[in-house]
Amino acid sequence: MTDIAKLIENTIRADVRAVGSYHVPDSIGYVKLDSMENPYQLPEPLRAELGARLAEAALNRYPVPSYRTLKDRICSKLGVPEGYDVLLGNGSDELITILATAIARQEREAGSRRAVVMAPVPAFVMFSRSAQFAGADFVGVPIQSDFSLDLPAMLAAIAEHKPSLVFLAYPNNPTGNLYDAGDMVAIIEAVGEHGIVVVDEAYQPFARVSFMERLPQHPNLVVMRTLSKLGLAGIRLGYMSAAAPLLAEFEKVRPPYNVNVLTQVAAEFALDHLDVLDRQAGLLNEERTRLAAALAALPGVEVFPSAANFISLRVPDAERACAILHGEKVLIKNLSKMHKLLANCIRVTVSTPEENDQFLAALKTSL
Ligand SMILES: *Cc1c(COP(=O)(O)O)cnc(C)c1O
Repeated sequence: MTDIAKLIENTIRADVRAVGSYHVPDSIGYVKLDSMENPYQLPEPLRAELGARLAEAALNRYPVPSYRTLKDRICSKLGVPEGYDVLLGNGSDELITILATAIARQEREAGSRRAVVMAPVPAFVMFSRSAQFAGADFVGVPIQSDFSLDLPAMLAAIAEHKPSLVFLAYPNNPTGNLYDAGDMVAIIEAVGEHGIVVVDEAYQPFARVSFMERLPQHPNLVVMRTLSKLGLAGIRLGYMSAAAPLLAEFEKVRPPYNVNVLTQVAAEFALDHLDVLDRQAGLLNEERTRLAAALAALPGVEVFPSAANFISLRVPDAERACAILHGEKVLIKNLSKMHKLLANCIRVTVSTPEENDQFLAALKTSL
């Protein structure tokens, strides 16, 4: 009989065996404020219309491989500059994997060493995970205690490690702040033709600022976004734009038909009703202001500025706060173990006024 433990040891990479899988807690019966979802659905008449459109989708056929209709709609509605196209992903998670795979050259390539992926940290965990699994080295450069970029440290790390890929989340997750645009441009220019800088704008619908219009000024710039945080996390659609020759290289790595027919139909429909989603984002921004003010008024709570649909805050005892919130059926994220800059920090998604009040009430009992 084949010993399954031996089989795994003989076949699966040591670094894969060593890590745990991406943990998503069971959320049934909870107020779910841990993953930056939009709490609002599409209004009923639009849902019925979408249902009819989905029923017409040709599920027996592969998707049209060019995705031209959907790409054109993204380009025209979402501010992609004239002459620039997009590449689509099964969520921006997949785009991050595509980027890491495309740059992860191996030592066996003539005269080269393993590629380096760099990001300020704490950052979105998929940046380092994708680098690792693609076979690149990850270098994290700590941000400052006010969560702004440490530009001299970034520039020194760039000079030392010559990263092939740099991720800058704008706004950053899990901190919520926008980095200084001048600092980001300095990084893009310092990397120059040696590396690609990806500005990850997952929270752009809330931040309402973007590097998209800067694409023509920086040939090494990639701007990446997703429909997830805007209200369509379930359909899994991300997109990125860059200079055409660069996009053509990433296109080779993209699995064919990575975006399914149902996602394509739903996204085209949603983009025709972008005003509805934008209004929801506007409501969430108003709630963010209200929630941040209410939190700042609590004793012992430090609230960090946010341009996203979540707020990061420091409490006297994050472990205790999370346990009490969990007992009150409210799910949030404890950031404490992610990085030493995040000691006793928690992250909460901005939701409906009712859910935000539930969170506030439960948090108060924990202080
Ligand atoms: C949520 C998030 C993503 C992932 O989005 P998907 O499109 O749902 O995969 C990417 N980057 C950042 C910074 C995020 O917070």
